[in-house]
Parts: sequence; C-alpha cells; structure tokens
Amino acid sequence: MTGTGSSTSALVAAAESAGADAIEAFGIVGNETRLAILLALWEAFDPYTEDNAVSFSELRARVDVRDPGQFNYHLRKLTGRFVNKTDRGYELHPAGLHLVQTVIAGTGIKKAVIDPIEIDAPCLRCDAPTAMSYQDGWLYYFCTECDGFVGGRTGQPEGILFSQALPPAALSNRTLEEVFVAGVSRMLQAFVMKMAGICPRCAGVVGSMFEICENHDPPSDGVCPTCRRQYEVAVKWTCSVCKYRGQAPPCVAAIIHPAVCAFYHDHGIDIGYTIDSFERSQQLLSLMGKHEQELVSIHPARVLITICYEGDELRLTFDEAMNVVESST
Ligand SMILES: [Zn+2]
Ligand SMILES: [Zn+2]
Ligand SMILES: [Zn+2]
Repeated sequence: MTGTGSSTSALVAAAESAGADAIEAFGIVGNETRLAILLALWEAFDPYTEDNAVSFSELRARVDVRDPGQFNYHLRKLTGRFVNKTDRGYELHPAGLHLVQTVIAGTGIKKAVIDPIEIDAPCLRCDAPTAMSYQDGWLYYFCTECDGFVGGRTGQPEGILFSQALPPAALSNRTLEEVFVAGVSRMLQAFVMKMAGICPRCAGVVGSMFEICENHDPPSDGVCPTCRRQYEVAVKWTCSVCKYRGQAPPCVAAIIHPAVCAFYHDHGIDIGYTIDSFERSQQLLSLMGKHEQELVSIHPARVLITICYEGDELRLTFDEAMNVVESST
C-alpha cells in the first residue's frame, strides 16, 4: 500500500483549485486493474440494452485477475463512484462511462493529423485559396495568403479564418469536408451552451468577459500586432469548475442569438439545424465574417453588432454576458 500512499500525497501536493472529491477520484482510477475493469465494462456495454450488468465472475475473467480477493478490492474501490452494483452484477456509472468515452474519443483513429490541404473555397477576407489542417486536437481553416481573422501562435498555421477544438474521433469515417462541417457544428453548439452560462465540457458554470485591445491597429488586410486579432474586442469564456476556456469575436458568437437566427430565418437562411454540408458551413462562416462590431462603451462594456443582409439591417448591443441590452432594425 506504500505506492497508493505516495501517489495520494502527490495528488494532494498537485491540487490547488481541485477539491477533495477530485483528488479522491484521481486516486481511485490511478491503478491499472481498476482502469481495466472500466474498460471491460465499456466493452460489454450496449447503449441500447437496458441491463448492462456483468457478473463478478465474468468481469474477473474479462480482466484476467486470478486472485478473487485482490480483484474484489479494486472493484469495491470503483463501486459507487465509477461503477454501479446491481442485482445482476456490475455496470458503468455515468461518470465511469464518461471517463472511458473521453479516452476513446481521443484515440478514435491512429494518426490524428491532417497535413495542410487546399480546399475548394476562397478566403472570406481576400478571395485567395484556403486550406485546412488538423493537429494537436484542433481543426484549422486558414488563408494561404492573408493574415485571416486571428494570428497563429507557435505551432499553428498563419492566417486562421476559423479554428475549433475537436477530438480525434471526429476524423473517423468522415471525408475532409465532413470533418469541416463537424467543426462548424461543434462551434455553434458550444456557443449555445456558453451563452447560456453552461460549460460545453463539464456543464459547470461559465462566466464571460470582454477582452479589449487598448492599442488596436490592424492593417486593412491583417491582424493587429498587439492582440493578433482582426477585432478589437473578444468575448472570453472560462469555466469555474474545469478551467475550460473559449473565445470569439462577439459578432461571430452572436450568430446563434435568437434575434439573429430570426433575422436570417426571415431571409430564408436557417442557422444551426441545417449545417449539414460543406457549402452550408462555408455560407455560415461567410455570413459571420460580414458581421460588423463596434465598442460603444467601456464602462460598462458594450459592443454594437450590425448585421446587413439583402438591404435589411439588424443592430444589437451586447453586454459582457452576451445578453442583448438594446436592439433596432
Ligand atoms: Zn485571405
Ligand atoms: Zn489589437
Ligand atoms: Zn467546465
């Protein structure tokens, strides 16, 4: 038990904002036999079967631990937290299922890399050819000539027009265009959750604030040398539980606001439900790229977003929580 004791001490030493429950959870799963039990229960799991219980003896056989006492010890450690005990045996607790799914999503395919490849769509800013790549769990869509909307950090491509965190599982059984569509859809879904104050990763409380560049001075076809963005204001979300973070220009995130959806709906464009093709995803990015935003007040921070389409105009003023505080058409 010396090993268990020292690893628990290391967890206590490492933890700052993580609470006692999180430390205990890390301690529970930090053992190969217990991870094997979770994996074996997931292998036996059928999402459309009501009873997924596996008997003690079958589970022990699946994990191949000969000593029943030792196996029982590890199984008891998981039970109640990651594993449920039922009348018929053992099954994954939702937390255990989520844990295994997270790992599986990260290893969905063997080589989770897409080298930069040109795709059939002109740049939203300069009409030059664009390309797409996937690396380190991020999907990048970028211009081959201009600075795009965001300057790339070290290891990222230059000229980013759109980027989205995407688990490697998103690359499985999809063409390049379909991966792109998955990225755009995921961005929209994450906006919906974040603007409702819900973390898209853990469902904890997400807060938002505007980050304002005080020396904003982008060239006409590039990004500001100070903030590396096209836009002066970015809305930044942070989860108070899991430290998830995300950011976007308010004029881009506004795409899923009901007033904006209704405006586009009146012009025959559905936002969200029908983002099911590469062309539709491109159209959506193109619409978002034409939204204009202006910082109209610093204290309190307010951003005016103007959307023009087919001669009509929608003007919405957002606060830092991305609530509309004023609107006009
Ligand atoms: Zn460009
Ligand atoms: Zn700037
Ligand atoms: Zn979270």
